[in-house]
Amino acid sequence: MRTQIVAGNWKMNKTLSETEVLLSELSAKIPDTHAQVIVAPTFINLAAAQNHLQSSTIHVAAQNMHFAENGAYTGEISADMLLDIGLDMVILGHSERRSLFGEDDALLAKKVDTAIGKGMTAIFCFGEELDERKSGNHFSVVENQLKQALFHLEEKAWGQLVLAYEPVWAIGTGETASPDQAQEMHAFIRKTIAEAYNSSVANNVSILYGGSVKPGNAAEIFSKPDVDGGLIGGASLKADDFIAIVKAI
Ligand code: PEP
Repeated sequence: MRTQIVAGNWKMNKTLSETEVLLSELSAKIPDTHAQVIVAPTFINLAAAQNHLQSSTIHVAAQNMHFAENGAYTGEISADMLLDIGLDMVILGHSERRSLFGEDDALLAKKVDTAIGKGMTAIFCFGEELDERKSGNHFSVVENQLKQALFHLEEKAWGQLVLAYEPVWAIGTGETASPDQAQEMHAFIRKTIAEAYNSSVANNVSILYGGSVKPGNAAEIFSKPDVDGGLIGGASLKADDFIAIVKAI
């Protein structure tokens, strides 16, 4: 059985006091669920969030990290710094990191290696741009992203990976891939992994969908057999919306 996951990427939102308020609301309202629930506040609030959620079932993840052990990388955060405050999950390769900060799959392969080597779970994001979907190249784009960033990994490393398929055209736009489009791509991703590794690796990795998931569309998207949950942006910033999405899984 694959782990079902609902993860909230808070991006560059919420001050410390706002973080505390949202975490209190989430902790109070979180339902009993078989799913793993994750929140990813901004770096500066991670330690406080981890502390706040100590006795909660909600996990905390970072939104990014550097691949290097330590050193002269001004403004960056290392895996050991995250581990030291009790975090062992990190989102890597979000489309905003790719488009606004120039991260490519070669760099992301190094970040994934570091996360895996440090015993962390990497939530690896990928997905095609609008023009790539319109031109019918979305399958080959996604296949290349997986190949370049992940297919060098040993089979056992896949136990520390969660995939998040996020078509860029659906992120923060209000435009959602239809449940059938999500299922079609998730099935393709699983087939691609099965060909590169084997069906056990493909069937055991959780593949989340991300892109304008809301309380109103979550249940239908999550009902698809190859969709194992969601990576949620905007709707994770409101407790009631995020909790409604958790309830939809
Ligand atoms: C995201 O940023 O990962 C995301 C899916 O955002 P939104 O839900 O706002 O589209």
